[in-house]
Amino acid sequence: MERNKALVVLSGGQDSSTCLFWALGHFDEVRTITFSYGQKHGNEVEAARKIADIAGVGFHHVDISSIASIGKNSLTDGSMTMDREKPEHGCPNTFVPGRNLFFLSAAAVYARENGIFDLVTGVSQTDFSGYPDCRDSFIRSLNVTLNLAMDEQFVIHTPLMWLDKAQVWALADSLGVFDIVRKETVTCYNGIPGDGCGHCPACHLRNEGLKKYLSDKEAYHGQKKG
Ligand code: ZN
Repeated sequence: MERNKALVVLSGGQDSSTCLFWALGHFDEVRTITFSYGQKHGNEVEAARKIADIAGVGFHHVDISSIASIGKNSLTDGSMTMDREKPEHGCPNTFVPGRNLFFLSAAAVYARENGIFDLVTGVSQTDFSGYPDCRDSFIRSLNVTLNLAMDEQFVIHTPLMWLDKAQVWALADSLGVFDIVRKETVTCYNGIPGDGCGHCPACHLRNEGLKKYLSDKEAYHGQKKG
């Protein structure tokens, strides 16, 4: 079994794009897979395609938008207003039930088909938006399940799991792709590239992290004296 190939689940956002460039430094061959899940804006998929192109890696797009017909959420349903905050109980309505379960399961099938057993995903539980499928415990559990499901030895890599958004910016910068990630990615729930609409929850998280990173860059690169 070759272990020098990886498949990155690329959404076109800040996190998964940073993971793609991280993977380029850790594996000889990197490919990407991007999913349509019925999201209101196709801009993310186009951003993912462009970023894969910039990185010079293979890009594979899979449409699983039928998941929008079985679970209700405000990212795929235009009639719902997005929750700006995490409610006291349960998940915000921006949570797409089962998204990472579907994505990683489909990615693993595609990876296996291509002789790839290392999967990379940009989930993080540090800036936890209340999404249970971004937690480390879920990823570990799914890793075991995928191995049992296909009798293989997959490894799911989560380089951002314990990083906050400012640290993710620092990582992009240290990988030399700060400007690419800042300009070319779509994190915004309203589908606006780069710094986004500025007021949706995803923009809020991304831009707060950016502000924090830019205000004290040296601290994130261990160059601070005294
Ligand atoms: Zn936004």
